[in-house]
Amino acid sequence: MDFVFTEREEAFRKEVRQFLAQELPPGWSWEEFGGFDTDEAWKFHRAFLDKLARKGWLTLSWPREYGGQERPVMEQLVFVEEMGYHRAPHLGMGVTFIGPALMLHGTEEQRREFLPRISRSEIWFCEGFTEPGAGSDLASLQTRAVLEGDEYVVNGQKTFQTWAHRADYSWLAVRTDPEAPKHRGISVLIVDMDSPGITVRPVLEMTGLHIFNEVFFDEVRVSRERLVGEENRGWYMLMTTLNYERAVFGGGAGEAASYKRTLEELVNYVRETNRNDDPLIRHKLAELAVEVEIARLLAYRVAWMQRQGQVPTFEVSIAKVFGGELCQRLANIGMQILGLLGQLMSHSKWAALRGHMAHLYLNSIATTIGAGTSEIQRNMIALMGLGLPRGF
Ligand SMILES: Cc1cc2nc3c(=O)[nH]c(=O)nc-3n(C[C@H](O)[C@H](O)[C@H](O)COP(=O)(O)OP(=O)(O)OC[C@H]3O[C@@H](n4cnc5c(N)ncnc54)[C@H](O)[C@@H]3O)c2cc1C
Repeated sequence: MDFVFTEREEAFRKEVRQFLAQELPPGWSWEEFGGFDTDEAWKFHRAFLDKLARKGWLTLSWPREYGGQERPVMEQLVFVEEMGYHRAPHLGMGVTFIGPALMLHGTEEQRREFLPRISRSEIWFCEGFTEPGAGSDLASLQTRAVLEGDEYVVNGQKTFQTWAHRADYSWLAVRTDPEAPKHRGISVLIVDMDSPGITVRPVLEMTGLHIFNEVFFDEVRVSRERLVGEENRGWYMLMTTLNYERAVFGGGAGEAASYKRTLEELVNYVRETNRNDDPLIRHKLAELAVEVEIARLLAYRVAWMQRQGQVPTFEVSIAKVFGGELCQRLANIGMQILGLLGQLMSHSKWAALRGHMAHLYLNSIATTIGAGTSEIQRNMIALMGLGLPRGF
């Protein structure tokens, strides 16, 4: 493993930093801007992504024929790190994991139809996997798609659908064969979110923001051409998608960089408040410094394997478990250090660190749930990493 970035990579890092300094408002903070909650925030977000797309940075390492620049994986990593450190707006699911999964499993027509539009930031995807009775046990999903002529007719309900209220398309997991063993009767469809019969209802997060939703499908008609890959082989596509997703959720290089930034802010805070000689605080911060570094290296390992053309599996789970749980430790220790002031959100003039810790504390709960819980990741590490028998 080579830890040194090349001159070219360092030059690119500088370029990304300059761009972010120029394009993000002074003192930019994602939380103060309200995440995806408001139309204004959404407009800013998409305009920002348009600028990235014009530079070709949204899909840096994708093949040129699909709108990418075929830049090395390590440049992609540098880009993601800087985006994370600066808490820049999210790149979206199309760019980060649905596009890559489509590249592997879609037909050539589907790739040509969707990938260049993702890379130009023209379309936005949501991920239609979880149902009220199918989260960790995703293979139990019940949303049904029945082929009638050249169309599937979809009925069912999904939940925790991040950005479904903003999305143009859903990467939807459906049951196409209810008689087959549960992993073998699932397919993936690309569904227009403005199709008749789709109802999107907000589910508020504990942060108070509207980011995810329940989505209901009532006799929704989807062209057969929107079936991804083979019918009833969708389970493999779900696993590929989740594998890409886990590499950016909780334990990715962008997250590790954002934890580093939060730690730096905490260190500055204890200096400014003259508590930098408190042994307990010093030890807690030092421990976090070690863990932030480990999170960075675990994320680098995943990128390094990708650069070698390998497909990381349990290595992604290791990074996700560690990064997701580190996020919670960071938020907990941050709250202990900031005390009562830490509980104030960004709109309060008394908030310490502009309310970041209060938001992180609430958001960090999700880092060990989304894209598969820590328990599920541990099961995968035991099974695939340690070769232990399937325990459930
Ligand atoms: C912020 C966020 C965004 C999300 N966005 C999306 C999205 O865009 N699209 C989407 O489809 N879904 C999304 N999800 C849903 C997410 O994938 C599920 O919440 C997750 O997979 C867990 O499923 P569940 O909530 O049904 O919990 P359950 O599966 O009911 O789990 C409950 C508890 O039981 C434990 N458990 C379950 N099975 C086992 C087992 N075999 N061994 C040990 N422990 C077990 C779990 O670890 C958990 O602690 C999102 C979730 C969050 C938090």
